[in-house]
Amino acid sequence: MYNTLEEIEAQIKICKNCQLCEQAKNAVPGKGNKNAEILFIGEAPGRNEDIKGEPFVGAAGKFLDTLLNEINLKREDIYITNIVKHRPPNNRDPKPEEVKKCWPFLEAQINIIKPKLIVTLGRHAMHRFMPTLQISKVHGTAKIVTGIFKEKQIFFPMYHPASALYNPGLRSTLIEDIKKIPILLKKIKDESQ
Ligand code: URA
Repeated sequence: MYNTLEEIEAQIKICKNCQLCEQAKNAVPGKGNKNAEILFIGEAPGRNEDIKGEPFVGAAGKFLDTLLNEINLKREDIYITNIVKHRPPNNRDPKPEEVKKCWPFLEAQINIIKPKLIVTLGRHAMHRFMPTLQISKVHGTAKIVTGIFKEKQIFFPMYHPASALYNPGLRSTLIEDIKKIPILLKKIKDESQ
């Protein structure tokens, strides 16, 4: 059992639970505000993240900053992590057993941060929590998930910011979707009072 995010981060840095650590340069535990109301979860570190040991520092991260700026948020306001904490070779999809081995870290991060809202970035992050949903149908809508955590957890699936780099048509979709977050967050807070 972990008591702090620092303890989790330290464990991730020495983790050898799966083969991903063998080729990775650095673990990427996550970064941001430990009291964040919103937790963003991506898929896995890429090349730049592997070099720096920080999440979303490449081109997709730059667009994520643009998206956050749309709703007046900065990296310091949120916490960002990934489903798996080491880079898969050549950015291949993480294997189910790698996701499974890494899950206790993400679960502990969620239990400590206790975010009011979890934003999943991309299909893979969404499927970890909502395996039957299709991103093209549910992006930009709030989903309540029960049965994973002690209390119900609200999710907001979005397309991955990198998808807008390959498919510029998704840029405006991502901007429209992120703009819904402040209203949703206010609703979540109002209803919890
Ligand atoms: N893509 C992700 O899913 N996560 C990162 O940290 C960077 C790119």
